[in-house]
Amino acid sequence: MRNCIFCKIIAGEIPSVKLYEDDLVYAFMDIAPITFGHTLVIPKEHHTSVATIPEATAGRMFLVGSRLGVAMKRGLAADGFNLHLSDGTVAGQVVMHAHLHVVPRWTDDGFHWNWRQLKYENEAAREELKKKMLEYFRLTKDASEAEEPEA
Ligand code: AMP
Ligand code: ZN
Repeated sequence: MRNCIFCKIIAGEIPSVKLYEDDLVYAFMDIAPITFGHTLVIPKEHHTSVATIPEATAGRMFLVGSRLGVAMKRGLAADGFNLHLSDGTVAGQVVMHAHLHVVPRWTDDGFHWNWRQLKYENEAAREELKKKMLEYFRLTKDASEAEEPEA
């Protein structure tokens, strides 16, 4: 896709520090890492949202991300890793080519997710949300059949 920075990276038009590439995915180091070693795994095909990535590619992204996480633990003596994906501007997505963040973590890395824990008012409120979500939940054989979520 024209004017997509990650498509340009895959095409070699913009430099990147590549860690891995195969027929479906491309992995390279993030230019402004959360922790040192922070890497991105992206589909070679342009998809704005993870929801339209075909199953084989989405699976490969997760597999490569996990394997890179293990490599970070072994090679960088990381204590763990985060796999993170922001889908949509409101979720923090800045680059509109879907990407999986692989972030090595050390006990003393000083980074904390700003995670909060709400409580459902009651069981009925929770059930209502469950019903609303399941009304639209589809596991299509080919995820490309899924509707592109509105931006
Ligand atoms: P997100 O906020 O989930 O869209 O993440 C976009 C990520 O892409 C950020 O972590 C950026 O640091 C990273 N990024 C943007 N441009 C480049 C680039 N040219 N090379 C490597 N990483 C990049
Ligand atoms: Zn792209």
